[in-house]
Amino acid sequence: MKSSEEQWLLDLRASARADSRAYDLVRSLTDDVGPRFSGTPGEAAAVQWALEAMRRVGLTNVRAEPAPTVLWERGAVERVELLAPRRERLVATALGGSVPTLGGAVEAQVVEATSMEEIDRLGREKLEGRILYLHHVMPRLQDGTGYNAGGWARTAGASRAAKYGAVGFVIRSIATHSMRVAHSGVLHYDGDLGKIPAAALSPPDGDLLHRLIAGGARVRLAIELGCRPMPAGESSNVIGEIPGTDLADQIVLFGAHLDSWDVGRGAVDDGAGCAMALDVARMIHALPKRPRRTLRIALFANEELGAGGGRAYAAAHAGEASRHYVAMEADQGDGAPWALRVPEHRKDAPAGG
Ligand SMILES: [Zn+2]
Repeated sequence: MKSSEEQWLLDLRASARADSRAYDLVRSLTDDVGPRFSGTPGEAAAVQWALEAMRRVGLTNVRAEPAPTVLWERGAVERVELLAPRRERLVATALGGSVPTLGGAVEAQVVEATSMEEIDRLGREKLEGRILYLHHVMPRLQDGTGYNAGGWARTAGASRAAKYGAVGFVIRSIATHSMRVAHSGVLHYDGDLGKIPAAALSPPDGDLLHRLIAGGARVRLAIELGCRPMPAGESSNVIGEIPGTDLADQIVLFGAHLDSWDVGRGAVDDGAGCAMALDVARMIHALPKRPRRTLRIALFANEELGAGGGRAYAAAHAGEASRHYVAMEADQGDGAPWALRVPEHRKDAPAGG
């Protein structure tokens, strides 16, 4: 004989498998709202969409909480062009947060590194006045950890190269596809001195540079970017709850991020996560009995340009941090879950601690 809790878990699983409501949420967010890059009208529309979706699910305390964030505009000009040993326009996209090229394109000889350590080894002697190409090929691993090392190279590589006098930074997209599509992503500059224009090349275009350089060619590139960092902006985290019963003071947070990159529609990153959070809430709300702890669904603003929404949530809710029994975010796409990962430095923390 199963306990009623066990039966509810089975019912929840059956209910999740029985219909396509989560998919319908992704479709609606993708098709009806579309790109929702932080600070754009698309993002404002997504906030309204999320408020309505939470109310429809039956959540209470549904609200938009202000999330001051860093903003950035891509602009119309994005040109990375091979100048030597022959001319060809390459497929590239500015990294999020990149400074623009001022007064025309940056043109320089290209030096390749395959790791952050190699940038250090090349030093000022090899990098001064040059464009650094970081050839990091992301491994295709089931657990997504292939993204981690590459992500660091992308976020920190430009400033590392600038430290040795490089004037531009390009990286092979941190992605596993082989199409001529450039994959953007955020970068973080290390102080004002480390700000050089930075872009991602599509994987085949990165491989082209790699082969040319390996073959001994003197490769020259032009980089022209019209993007522009903006000092600060206003976004919103969207939050709703199913209040608990006897342990209502303890919060189980399940989140995702509502914003997307400007160059896509964010179906996987992170429309899938938003749909999971909303549909989990719908199914739990439909159970015959409320959960003991408070379930809080949080759809965060501006994850893509540095997790500004998450930081704003942490600051606004610092006073109740210890009431968070567990906090989860779904930001790894869809598909059958096969792992639950706890950050290394939190593994020994007691629940609620
Ligand atoms: Zn994401």
